[in-house]
Amino acid sequence: MPFFLNAKVRDLVPYEPIMGDFPVRLDANESFLRPDSVAFEEIARAVEGVAFNRYPDPTAAALTAAFAGYYGIDSTRVTAGNGSDELLSVLLTAFTQQDDKVVTFTPDFSMYGIYATLSGCEHMPLEKKNGQLDLSAAQGIRARVVLFSNPCNPTSLTIPAEEIRRFVRSTPALVVLDEAYMDFSDPANSLLHEVDEYENLIVLRTASKALGMASLRLGFAVTNERLTAVLRAVKSPYNVNAVSQAIGTALYSNRARVRAGIEQIRAERDKLVDLFNLVVRQVPGQLALIGAQANFLFVHCTKADDVVAYLKEQGIIIRQFGDFLRITVGSAEENTLLLAALQEFYGGESYA
Ligand SMILES: *Cc1c(COP(=O)(O)O)cnc(C)c1O
Repeated sequence: MPFFLNAKVRDLVPYEPIMGDFPVRLDANESFLRPDSVAFEEIARAVEGVAFNRYPDPTAAALTAAFAGYYGIDSTRVTAGNGSDELLSVLLTAFTQQDDKVVTFTPDFSMYGIYATLSGCEHMPLEKKNGQLDLSAAQGIRARVVLFSNPCNPTSLTIPAEEIRRFVRSTPALVVLDEAYMDFSDPANSLLHEVDEYENLIVLRTASKALGMASLRLGFAVTNERLTAVLRAVKSPYNVNAVSQAIGTALYSNRARVRAGIEQIRAERDKLVDLFNLVVRQVPGQLALIGAQANFLFVHCTKADDVVAYLKEQGIIIRQFGDFLRITVGSAEENTLLLAALQEFYGGESYA
């Protein structure tokens, strides 16, 4: 018998990161930091303590306590996931029914729409005007879930906390606020510490960006007691493996080191912005920095295709969105290579 694929998966293709051997990878918003030797010893000790024959702790109690300790929140409001990607899928499954409307804004993180569609929802992407997130655009829509990132991937822009508070109070929808990059921005714009004040707010965090641990697949959903109970009931029991739990617990417990890592990335970001702006001034009208609130820069570029191709020839990978470029902050050396290549492309003098 023929087997017909259902509509929601018929045209799906597996996510394909840019493959190949590129010496400078500035395409995936990963951290350029590697754990130092002391951190590696702590990681080794954590792994040694894992009961490999046992299923992991379904509540990830030690991990959520360490995460909550780092951010100064209550661990009973934290659900751990296999990356925030998994939590997006879990929460859309949990809090929507067939044909519910899920509102997102474009551009934003592309996975939102994919999980919304897979959950059987109607995905409603609202076009941002000039890349600016305007939550009031969602106001008239009877949405079940409204989902966005702050700071935004890819624009690297942050909107003020007060705008989000006003929106959360005014809507019956569940608001999912993805703060994957908030550690690199102004913490005053985070709503992480106020989830108990709302019935309808979930804040997402991840170890993939600020902690520099994308490999571990650790994400966190922070919300009130009622919604936390639902998330914990809906997720698969052993969703976070014991090795990642143990390593994540050890790393979040060393608060000074986490903070120092974030500071290092922010400092490189600020340096890169300054030097990038020098290039911008040398080529009037051709490059414009849009945002740099996260660990990446978002740039308007009149020759985006050519720039991306040229950088690739030089072994440097960035992400292109039409006429825009998203450039992850790399190490000082990587950023120097990037800037030198950009200068060469535009025919100017190199800094080196
Ligand atoms: C990178 C990123 C995440 C992190 O996803 P993980 O599954 O935790 O690695 C979440 N949201 C946004 C907007 C991101 O860019």
